[in-house]
Amino acid sequence: MSLNHVRPWRDIYRRKSRQIMVGNVPVGGDAPIAVQTMTNTLTTDVAATVAQVQAAAEAGADIVRVSVPDEASSKALKEIVRESPVPIVADIHFHYRRGIEAAEAGAACLRINPGNIGDEARVKEVIKAARDHNCSIRIGVNAGSLEKHLLEKYGEPCPEAMVESGLEHIRILQDNDFHEFKISVKASDVFLSAAAYQGIAEATDAPIHLGITEAGGLVSGTIKSAIGLGNLLWMGIGDTIRVSLSADPVEEVKVGFEILKSLGLRHRGVNIISCPSCARQGFDVIKTVETLERRLEHIKTPMSLSIIGCVVNGPGEALMTDVGFTGGGAGSGMVYLAGKASHKMSNEQMIDHIVEQVEKKAAELEAAAEAAE
Ligand code: SF4
Repeated sequence: MSLNHVRPWRDIYRRKSRQIMVGNVPVGGDAPIAVQTMTNTLTTDVAATVAQVQAAAEAGADIVRVSVPDEASSKALKEIVRESPVPIVADIHFHYRRGIEAAEAGAACLRINPGNIGDEARVKEVIKAARDHNCSIRIGVNAGSLEKHLLEKYGEPCPEAMVESGLEHIRILQDNDFHEFKISVKASDVFLSAAAYQGIAEATDAPIHLGITEAGGLVSGTIKSAIGLGNLLWMGIGDTIRVSLSADPVEEVKVGFEILKSLGLRHRGVNIISCPSCARQGFDVIKTVETLERRLEHIKTPMSLSIIGCVVNGPGEALMTDVGFTGGGAGSGMVYLAGKASHKMSNEQMIDHIVEQVEKKAAELEAAAEAAE
């Protein structure tokens, strides 16, 4: 269940899944829903890839995936794993050798479909390498690359075909007594994805990796992902998520977190509540929020901030936030602390002042959390 149990209309009952480990990150069971992204640099460019992994981790990524298309990438992977602050998943397609190399290089998880890597002996070798190196596996079914026999059976990619594909891959791992796996059934179509995920959620207790594949650019992909992943998460389905965007991986992480934050499933950083602004605004709300978002990126402690243009909604929103500012006309506004009107502040000084107040509140919350441990 989510952290919202004080208000039952906000409760989300998570599907019960087995828990596996991706490096030191638990996935499934009652573990927090992990946020993932994937690098888009050349894996052989170790410096660029490590920089991207670090930026994603700084933005909150719990796990990062890296493509391993050739032997040189397997070699680079070893260095990337060594430098990475988070567990690395190796993305493998078809080449069973790459799977073995990635496990040996220290990947925390292999994204590989056991049914697509050749005969039984090869499958066994990959599974042995994963087992020997404490490496979990993600089965990644994709509507765009379903097996031929399933396309022939069902005529086109459909939820049933995707679930059947997933179960076939699962069976191979289970027949080899390998149970440290999670599964995804992605499609670029929201309806197909959602139906396939519901089907697989009923058919297995494996942890589920959620994603809408090839979702699009920053705006369209965010909306598609919020609808697709948001609905599934609301139903309680999903143990780790990746938002796929044609954009910087850091954006994927931010969007992933925002989806989870909207549903009360994860909390991180400052949740800014701001009005769209209108002719009544007492200061430039849009510019202020843009600046504050940037200046408060370093805050990781969950807290809330309301930035509201005027008294129509300002005092009401401020009641429910840790720090608030409401425009009041005459070049100044009211600062609210812990829901109460505290003091006036000029519009010119308010950004620096709000940053200061948020940093102070974050430090207080961190100290209180430490004292409680
Ligand atoms: S809170 Fe005030 S400034 Fe903001 S949109 Fe509403 S009426 Fe306009």
